[in-house]
Parts: sequence; structure tokens; C-alpha cells
Amino acid sequence: MGELPMLISEIFYSIQGEGGLTGVPSVFIRTAGCNLRCAWCDTPYASWQPEGKPLTIDEIVAEATKHPTQHVVLTGGEPMVAPGIADLARELKLLGRHVTIETAATIAPDGIACDLASLSPKLLNSAPDPLKHAAWRRKHEALRWQPDVVRAWLDAGPWQLKFVVAQPADVEEIEEMLAQLRRDLPRHQVLLMPEGTTAAALRARAPWLSELCKQRGFRYAHRLQIELYGNTRGT
Ligand code: SF4
Repeated sequence: MGELPMLISEIFYSIQGEGGLTGVPSVFIRTAGCNLRCAWCDTPYASWQPEGKPLTIDEIVAEATKHPTQHVVLTGGEPMVAPGIADLARELKLLGRHVTIETAATIAPDGIACDLASLSPKLLNSAPDPLKHAAWRRKHEALRWQPDVVRAWLDAGPWQLKFVVAQPADVEEIEEMLAQLRRDLPRHQVLLMPEGTTAAALRARAPWLSELCKQRGFRYAHRLQIELYGNTRGT
């Protein structure tokens, strides 16, 4: 293993702040590169201006397995566009790690080893500015919502759906997307997260979003890492 270098933005040990494993100490492997360009992206260094260090899979695995946790999160950017990601996931699984893949679900799993697919399809609220980024806006709109790809992930293994919500009307768009999936999805596995990169922004949206979750049966999902560390790299 390890012949193919991957462009890695960062590897760090932290607390999972989002989703069903919130609070679990986890190693995050952030690949550089993304096929979307969300307007509110909180990791522009892995998407808008992707930067990273070429590392072999052996080097990545050595770094990721030196911490006292079994939980590894493959994130980005978009980890599914990273060459070598399937080899990396398989190697981590062979070492007994619990692998979460955080993906926007625009690329099918294609048999990738994964214990939890954390699927975060993007809403219209993520679209980049049409005047400043016309080409990316078109690409973003063409890719961001692909029901067939999301269904492939749902069928592949354990999953959670995470939506970033900026305004109450977003919930209607989420309902429409879920209807297009044509699956009887347990609503507690559909997580709604307030949009925001500061604790103040999250808290401002929390009251109405938590009420909407109560009305619709979705799971309210805060972002613990913002509360603990703010929006800083390596956390
Ligand atoms: S999919 Fe994720 S990493 Fe890519 S631009 Fe959107 S928020 Fe950023």
C-alpha cells in the first residue's frame, strides 16, 4: 500500500461535533479538493482554494492511528473526489477503525468501506454567487442534488442525512428532496443543522430551527465543534 500520494489538507484529533457520533473523540482526515463551491463553505482551504500536502496512504494511516480512538472521519472538501480514497478507507477498516465518510453525496459509494455515511446534500442556500462565479454556479446547480446517488448511499450501509439550514423556508426544500428519494426514511436520521460559523450565528438560528424539528420530527443537530473551539482549523 501507499504508492499513490493523496493531497491531504489536514489530519487532526478532535471531538466529532456533528451528527449521531457527536462527542466521540475522532481523527479527522481532510482531503483537499471539492466538486462543489458552497457560498458558505467553512473549509475554503479544502474547496475554493484547495491546499494540502501529498501523503502516501501509509503516511496517512500512521498519522491517523497514533491517537487513542477507533473513530476516523474522512472529510473534505469532498473526500469522494480524492484519488485513493477507497484504498485509504479499506486500509483503515482492515486496522479495525470505525470509518465515517462525510460527503455531499454527489458521487456514488461504489463499494467503499464505510461504517457511517454522513450525507450532506446541499440546498439552494449553498449556491455560489451567479455573477462572481457563473461557471461554478452552473456546475454546483447541476451536481448538488442527485437523488439516485443519495439512494445508492442509503442502500450501501448505515447513514445519516445532514442538512444545513439557513432560513425556515429551507425546510420545505428538504421535504421536497426527501419526497424525491421515495423512501420511508426514519426522520430521526434526518439531521437539521443551523448554518453558521460562529457560536452566536448558530445560537441565533437554534430557537426556530429546534421548533421546526419538533414540528416535523427531524433531529436538531448543533455543531459542538463551533461551541468548543470556534471555526478554527485543526478542530
Ligand atoms: S461540499 Fe462541503 S467542502 Fe465542498 S464547497 Fe460545499 S461545504 Fe465546502
